[in-house]
Amino acid sequence: MRVYKFGGSSIGSAARIRHVAGIIRNGLSETRLVVVVSAIQRVTDMLTEAATLAGKGDVAYREKLGEIASLHEAVVRDLFVQSNLGEAELWLREMMSELHDVAHGVFLLRDLSDKSLALVLSYGERLSSWIVAAHLRHSGIPASIVDAREVIVTDNNHCYAKVDLHATERRIREQVRPQDAVPVVTGFIASATDGSVTNLGRGGSDYTATLLGAALHADEVWIWTDVDGFFSADPKRVRDARVIPDISYAEAMELSHAGAKVLHPLAVQPAMKAGIPVLIRNSFNPEAPGTRIENKPLAESVLPRPVTGLTSINHVVLLNLSGSGMAGVPGTASRLFSCLARHSINIIFISQASSEQSISLAISPGQASMAKKVLEEEFFREIESRRIEPIHVRRNLAMVAVVGNKMSGHPGVSAQLFETLGKNGINVIAVAQGANEMNISLVIDSSDEDKALNCIHESFFLSRRKVHVFITGTGTIAKSLISQISAHRVTLQEEKDLDVVVCGLANTRAVALDIEGLDLERWQEAMKPREGHDGIGEYVRLIHQLNLHNTIVVDCTASTKVAEAYPGLLQSNISVATANKLGMAGSWDLYRRIIDAQRKSNAKFLYETNVGAGLPIINTLNDLKNSGDKIICIEGVLSGTLSFIFNELRKGGRFSEVVRRAKEAGYTEPDPRDDLSGADFARKLLILGRELGYHLEYADVECESLVPESCRGEMSAAEFLDRLAEVDHWYTSELAQAATQGMTIAYTGELKEGRAKVGLKRVPVESPVAGLNGTENLVVFTTDRYLKTPLVVKGPGAGGEVTAGGVFADILRIAGYLV
Ligand code: ADP
Ligand code: ASP
Ligand code: MG
Repeated sequence: MRVYKFGGSSIGSAARIRHVAGIIRNGLSETRLVVVVSAIQRVTDMLTEAATLAGKGDVAYREKLGEIASLHEAVVRDLFVQSNLGEAELWLREMMSELHDVAHGVFLLRDLSDKSLALVLSYGERLSSWIVAAHLRHSGIPASIVDAREVIVTDNNHCYAKVDLHATERRIREQVRPQDAVPVVTGFIASATDGSVTNLGRGGSDYTATLLGAALHADEVWIWTDVDGFFSADPKRVRDARVIPDISYAEAMELSHAGAKVLHPLAVQPAMKAGIPVLIRNSFNPEAPGTRIENKPLAESVLPRPVTGLTSINHVVLLNLSGSGMAGVPGTASRLFSCLARHSINIIFISQASSEQSISLAISPGQASMAKKVLEEEFFREIESRRIEPIHVRRNLAMVAVVGNKMSGHPGVSAQLFETLGKNGINVIAVAQGANEMNISLVIDSSDEDKALNCIHESFFLSRRKVHVFITGTGTIAKSLISQISAHRVTLQEEKDLDVVVCGLANTRAVALDIEGLDLERWQEAMKPREGHDGIGEYVRLIHQLNLHNTIVVDCTASTKVAEAYPGLLQSNISVATANKLGMAGSWDLYRRIIDAQRKSNAKFLYETNVGAGLPIINTLNDLKNSGDKIICIEGVLSGTLSFIFNELRKGGRFSEVVRRAKEAGYTEPDPRDDLSGADFARKLLILGRELGYHLEYADVECESLVPESCRGEMSAAEFLDRLAEVDHWYTSELAQAATQGMTIAYTGELKEGRAKVGLKRVPVESPVAGLNGTENLVVFTTDRYLKTPLVVKGPGAGGEVTAGGVFADILRIAGYLV
């Protein structure tokens, strides 16, 4: 014999009820059945709302009851045919009229006691069981209704009643007989010895089912619900949650106590005591094997993970009892707990450090004010004499629990847990782990709940880790980056178990977002015009709101506004990889704010491409510095455009004509004066100088502009190029003169003894600077260790592809740190 329990969603409509009849018919072909039903989906909530309104004297309760009636009418009309519809409608009218009377009573008294609430709520299951049983009979399956008020005996804690197991077992055995017809039992509801209606707490039908299963010695209890089984985490909150095929009673109990709504916390007990397996199955997908809860040792093939599942309770409040007068005073904890127990305040979580100066308790928000009041009364004298502080209440918190049989004796679980949370900037407010080592519970801010669940889940359950990337800018660098990520994503997944998910793209006009990842082949189509014109602010707000774990913002713009967002992002523990120089080469104030934010944060900030595009310049510099080398001088060519111009000039050619060629080849900014001014080069040197610890502003960099005085005013780029011919002669003769001394000219930068300068200079023809090609960059590090032969980094220092490659490498470096 089996017990089948159907939750509210499984019988949420006439179609669902027909489907359930099919499941029952199949079950009957294998064994005898007892069926337990919850109220139809949403009905218990609606009844609660109606009763609450009535209790406040609000006539709107009638409307709510009207909705409940129409919902059932619709089901009845759809389910029953002419010959039996009349009877069903008549019965429904009678039930609803009774319910109206009860609610009217509450309305008149303006008082909703737990006793009246339990009575109102009982209509949900009484209505659903009648409908299901009648439908089974009409479909040729003999069925009888069993009102659980007749068989489940409880105390009179009406809305979370304690079951009298002995009396209940006896009554079940006497009254529930699956031999002739299928008993359809109302879940959730029960009655106290005084005859008043009670219930087993929200979700209590699961408990009804296992009580029946245990009393009747069923072979199995099947809980039919709307998900494929017991998941490693709530599948509605954790996208990658997995079904757990087998789970022990103890683990299921821990998980359900810690908030896994799929099973009522008390439901495991009767089954465990009687040794009856409990199965969680999906009525929407009956083919899925579901989860089996029992005591058998796990199959060898199942990986012995230390953690089985994780759960959360969305809303908890933390009460803190603290004070120097608590240490070494026996009985404080006992008074605390007795006081709360006397007032039926349920404690979800307890934590006390060995200093004994404070005890933290999590309870549900509804009981917080009451708890504060009764505790302040209990500890009145101690509070008055300052031996104990006034009770501190902290709200808007969530509790997350990590559960697993095999956590005990498995070192490293909490290390991994806290590391993951830390890197994602999730602040842990309180922690508790029992000595059975089966459960680690954490209290965190409720706004971090989803992020915490997802990152903990990924860390313990998935071999493949995700990073969520949000790109700003959609210019050349961004385009190359997107196609590079797109081309390598699968390789990274397969070889590095890393999934780089691009979730966002934004420029000043449009934005595209998808937390599952944008289609990188067709991202342009996903770009939607931006609503506000709030610049980067709105995009950053969206990123904050999504609050995804392992988030990296990638800046491919050249905008100061975007750079100004870095400190805020870092403070929120969002990592940043940037090709934009305007942060690190911005004002000293902005630079300091970025560095400070980075120091205080668990996030990473990488900007390798700020100097020399994809060339390893900043990393090299930091490696030298961090390993104790002393940097004497950094010099070289850090502008691809100026490098090209002088490399070509040395081959012969007029200056203005070479600049024109550089522009045509796309090596210059739209206005070549932006390159010739040396400003971009100067910024790179500024970044290197700051990297070496010098307090430098942009204005401190001596920068020689190659834009002739006469060409600095307002004029178009074309006019400028024409006028530039004025200086051609000067360059030709300067080159010739230098040549007589075995020298040539180059535009270079030098950083030495805290001084940074960029400008035109004569250099020996055999110097590395004079031997560059095309847009090559070159940096020479002269250090204590690299003194005779300086360390040289040389290669292409500009271009979308290499810059994007450098940014991609930074993203992967951050990913390596995060996961
Ligand atoms: P029913 O109406 O069938 O009793 P419930 O809503 O009470 O269904 O419970 C099923 C829901 O429990 C699922 O839809 C899911 O969102 C939630 N849930 C929370 N944690 C888990 C978990 N670990 N595994 C499966 N479901 C979970
Ligand atoms: N109908 C009740 C509730 O919604 C009991 C149950 O669903 O198990 O809580
Ligand atoms: Mg349920």
